[in-house]
Amino acid sequence: MPAKKNPKKTVIKKDEKYVDGPRKMKAKGLQLLKGMKDVLPQDQRYWQFIFKACRRISNSHCFDWIETPILESTNLFIRTTGKDSDIIKKEMFSFTDQGGENISLRPEMTPGIARAYVEHGMINLPQPVKIFSYGPVFRHDKPQAGRYRQFSQLDFEILGDGAPAVDAELISMSYFILHDVGLETNVHVNSIGCPACRPQYRRLLVDYFRSKRKNLCEDCKERLNKNPMRILDCKEEACQEIGGEAPQTVDYLCDDCKTHFMKVLEHLDEADIPYTLDPKIVRGLDYYTKTTFEIFLVQKGEEKTGRQTALAAGGRYDGLIEQLGGRAETPACGFAVGVERIMLALKETEADVPPLKQADIFLAQLGVSARKQAVRLLEELREEGYHIKANLVKDSLSAQLGFANKLGVKITLILGQKEVLDKTILVRDMDTGSQEIVDINKLIPDLNKRLKKIEESII
Ligand code: AMP
Repeated sequence: MPAKKNPKKTVIKKDEKYVDGPRKMKAKGLQLLKGMKDVLPQDQRYWQFIFKACRRISNSHCFDWIETPILESTNLFIRTTGKDSDIIKKEMFSFTDQGGENISLRPEMTPGIARAYVEHGMINLPQPVKIFSYGPVFRHDKPQAGRYRQFSQLDFEILGDGAPAVDAELISMSYFILHDVGLETNVHVNSIGCPACRPQYRRLLVDYFRSKRKNLCEDCKERLNKNPMRILDCKEEACQEIGGEAPQTVDYLCDDCKTHFMKVLEHLDEADIPYTLDPKIVRGLDYYTKTTFEIFLVQKGEEKTGRQTALAAGGRYDGLIEQLGGRAETPACGFAVGVERIMLALKETEADVPPLKQADIFLAQLGVSARKQAVRLLEELREEGYHIKANLVKDSLSAQLGFANKLGVKITLILGQKEVLDKTILVRDMDTGSQEIVDINKLIPDLNKRLKKIEESII
């Protein structure tokens, strides 16, 4: 078969194949819900890249995989996250199911994982239990860039160990996940004490904020009675100014919390993790004790801080397991990274994200017997591990070569009637347009040789 000149190459970059942002749907009421996001094929390479970094780090720290349901009893979240937290008060997707049970889409992963730890008797396993999970999380918050109503978290928890080294291990894991994907970040860390020392601090805080009450925003006036620590991370400018002068938790820690915090910081120093002591990191959920932290992007030397801009966040929760009916004094600590926010940061910083593995080979066929053999050959090559595409509908060779060009494959195999009879196949180098006849029985070693140098950077 004569070599045809390559049709003009118009390689479509994967990223350009799909429009960004949804278009208006003609049919009313069927469009994407507010605050929701489709994860399109063009974003897969970011997704995979982030997963790989998390997998690498979770494997090297010996974490086991866990998956808990997206739906849990609403009570689980009220009892753990706390009825006065913003998440429970304003952001839960809750409903009554057909059986009359009050259930919610999880607004975070920790309560479900802690429930599973208690319910499956994981306390009887060698401690600590190190588990991680991935999945969607739902919060009915005001949508904006980097804040969605459904988003994906990778969540890491260490249960059954109260040592400060555990807090430091988790902080450095989250830092290194972000570092591994190419993001420069800074850790903001705080200690919010424990049930022994927090009440005294809380009283001082309430007294302080009461004296400034008239200048607080309406939400914070309400927080004053129910969740005064949350005023410290309010995004309103006036509240931030008042919060800046407020008593700080670290000055009122009991000896145990103080020693714990100092040791966490020592471990971070030893591991060379950049951090800032930040009294505003209070997290606002009922179950947190002692260490709390959030990690922020540093871009061109400037930190992108602010409420709800953290790429990762977490803390210790020493009372939660007992609260759920587990063994008393079972300490625990964890963190979650948000996939969408990391993806945005990777795009913003133009980080080097390797492309997804694309097809290496296209198989073109001409004629009935060639098409039959093509089906078998495709399976054989796929079993060998090749990423291979074909178009078994088109008959014209130039149309098939045009298609192969658009895919940007390196090699096209051409199988016609003559090749079927001769037990050969044409192997075409798509860059040069040169073709060689290869014995069909020697095709695999031939392809192996040609494609040996698959770039390591490709996922
Ligand atoms: P949190 O569960 O609030 O501690 O958040 C942990 C991580 O999840 C954050 O650091 C973000 O990366 C991500 N995250 C939290 N809320 C949202 C949201 N509404 N949209 C997208 N990502 C979020």
